[in-house]
Amino acid sequence: MTTENRTENRIGAARRPGTADHPAGVLVVGAGPTGLLLAGDLAAAGVPVTVLERRAPGHANLSRAFGVHARTLELLDARGLADELAATGHRLNGLRLFRRLSLDLTELPSRFPYLLITPQYEVERLLERRARAAGARFEHGAEVLAVHQDDEGVRLDVRAADGTVTARRAAYAVGADGHRSAVRTALGLPFPGRSVIRSIVLADVRLAEPPPGLLTVNGTGDAFAFVAPFGDGWYRVMCWDRAGERPDGDPVGLDEVRDITRRALGTDHGMGEARWLSRFHSDERQVPVYRAGRVLLAGDAAHVHSPAGGQGMNTGLQDAANLGWKLAAVVRGGASDTLLDTYQTERHPVGAMVLRSSGGIIRLAMAHNAFQRALRDLLSLAVGHLPPLRRRALGAVTGIGVAYPAPRGAHPLTGRRAPDLPLREGRLYEALRAGRFVLVTPESFADTPAPADPRAVHVTRTDGGRTTLLVRPDGYVAWAAEGSVAGDRAAALAAWTGEA
Ligand SMILES: Cc1cc2nc3c(=O)[nH]c(=O)nc-3n(C[C@H](O)[C@H](O)[C@H](O)COP(=O)(O)OP(=O)(O)OC[C@H]3O[C@@H](n4cnc5c(N)ncnc54)[C@H](O)[C@@H]3O)c2cc1C
Repeated sequence: MTTENRTENRIGAARRPGTADHPAGVLVVGAGPTGLLLAGDLAAAGVPVTVLERRAPGHANLSRAFGVHARTLELLDARGLADELAATGHRLNGLRLFRRLSLDLTELPSRFPYLLITPQYEVERLLERRARAAGARFEHGAEVLAVHQDDEGVRLDVRAADGTVTARRAAYAVGADGHRSAVRTALGLPFPGRSVIRSIVLADVRLAEPPPGLLTVNGTGDAFAFVAPFGDGWYRVMCWDRAGERPDGDPVGLDEVRDITRRALGTDHGMGEARWLSRFHSDERQVPVYRAGRVLLAGDAAHVHSPAGGQGMNTGLQDAANLGWKLAAVVRGGASDTLLDTYQTERHPVGAMVLRSSGGIIRLAMAHNAFQRALRDLLSLAVGHLPPLRRRALGAVTGIGVAYPAPRGAHPLTGRRAPDLPLREGRLYEALRAGRFVLVTPESFADTPAPADPRAVHVTRTDGGRTTLLVRPDGYVAWAAEGSVAGDRAAALAAWTGEA
């Protein structure tokens, strides 16, 4: 990390005219999906927030991600955006891996039992609209070069399109600036890992003989391919030829895509016209710490992995949902700054798990000797036929199974995802739209209501369940009890919010 003095010498403390510092607010670096969700959550919670984005206004991000998993749709539902996003895309009810394994997404215990295929820019469009409406400020053409912090706050050096460098100040900053994160570099943090695939080819194509409506993945010998329908006649193909890796800058021809796909899937599905062809490489890396003092990292800035399983954007959005309410609670003065450490303890293991699972899919797909292929077939068979294994695989890929560590002796639901319970008025995920804790009381206790607590929204569940739940703003259970243990509940709320 650079020191405050060195910065003063180099650029002084100049402020760009017209830009507001946020001594009690947050600077978010990067207007990708992660930064946009975070900025919206902070602004909705009343925190002054500015998004600093290197791209010029109107220049959209390249549409890399195209799959939105069930848990992400749930967190968008808790912000009133899921139904609008779902209308922009196409629903896949299943995933087919390695020819033998089909995962039926309709088994998911969710209002969204499918994979939504929609371009990343649709997700970004909705999130940016929400963030702006909530009061987040945006500075485009603003490239963050360096990060400085002390006990009082953070200062970012920002270069404008005309080359001038000025400073922005805030109480906290979040680097959501993608896999080459300047914030991570400025913090001096390593990004250990390695390149797993040096030359993936991506093609958006028309297919004359498309596969059935599933996402199809397979690998044989040196070739690996993945096909997913956009739902509008176009298909996303990603493929890789281990024996033919080339530099990212080499041009891609449709014949190369056809050839690799044919070898991996046994057919090129009648591949015709292409609207986008590109070549990229894929790394598996994770930063060891997500927090360095007043600066935090989220999304691709914190972890990158193979696109298999389509989890990068989804994981980044869930990082943001985990961090937003905590940062808001700290910045607005109630909660202790140690609350931010739970972002590391909760999200770092999830990032590590995503690296393992997406890497595992790639390695299994690329099994290239008879023993590895036999092992893959055995695993596919086991996951396909054993319901607990299948549920686990589904939970991992879709994010529905993610849970956070709970204190020893806590109720078994603590740290788990709260399902979208029916309430006397509406659903739990609708109640979460207030961005606050939600206290869910069983109907059987409704005659003896809990004393009103201004820190939480009070609702009554109507599903017959007898567990009282305190649900965090990000939809995970903070505390649970069989019955209504008012004292415990108040202590749990105080522990999470810092407000007695
Ligand atoms: C081919 C491909 C397919 C994929 N498919 C899927 C999928 O189906 N599902 C899925 O979940 N994920 C998928 N991913 C991954 C997904 O695209 C990323 O994980 C996601 O974009 C990460 O979001 P982010 O907001 O963290 O970072 P980014 O989207 O990279 O956004 C970072 C932003 O920061 C800005 N920025 C960078 N440096 C600076 C700076 N110094 N100052 C200011 N601004 C800066 C950038 O301009 C950018 O707008 C795919 C990726 C690839 C390559």
